[in-house]
Amino acid sequence: MSSNIKVQRICQHCGNEFTARTTTTMYCSHRCNSAAYKAKKRAGKVEESNKHTQRVKAQPIEELKTKEFLSVTQVSKLIGCSRQNVYSLINTGKLKATNILLKKTIVRRCDLDELFTEPIRSPIPQTQVQEIKEWIDAGAFDIADCYTITEVQDKYNISETTLQNLIKRHEVPKIKKGWYAYVPKAIIDKLLSKTPKS
Ligand SMILES: [Zn+2]
Repeated sequence: MSSNIKVQRICQHCGNEFTARTTTTMYCSHRCNSAAYKAKKRAGKVEESNKHTQRVKAQPIEELKTKEFLSVTQVSKLIGCSRQNVYSLINTGKLKATNILLKKTIVRRCDLDELFTEPIRSPIPQTQVQEIKEWIDAGAFDIADCYTITEVQDKYNISETTLQNLIKRHEVPKIKKGWYAYVPKAIIDKLLSKTPKS
């Protein structure tokens, strides 16, 4: 390969035209070269991670049920919610978990079961699991600790619009379940107890 030749080439990273000394040079600069290398490496990692997720997703649920130790992905699959939901359960202390390695969180099956053997709790629709944290903060995890919208209206004799505005203004966590929307008694009572009504 002669170093005297000059070839016009297109950089495969930035797309700019550049003068190369060989016909096989792919990048215009060292910078593009290393950027392309990093991008390729990153893509490889993403692919590997996606493959892993696919593998876990494809794992029969029956097989997961027999496992003593579970990854976050496996837990999410087992209980049918997102990984993010599992992390929020862990972060709020609801679900015990161990970091055996950096970025490797393991949940024991018995700890997962523990989550479901707590005092009777109504199942929360999957779509609202993300609000679990707010509910824990509000101290309301049982439907018995909640009012329906109608119950609040009856108790405090206010219109639905007034109540909805109050809920919005105070960012009261609201959970929809079937036909009903539930709000934590503790919060509502605190907000409305100024106007006692029996
Ligand atoms: Zn370039």
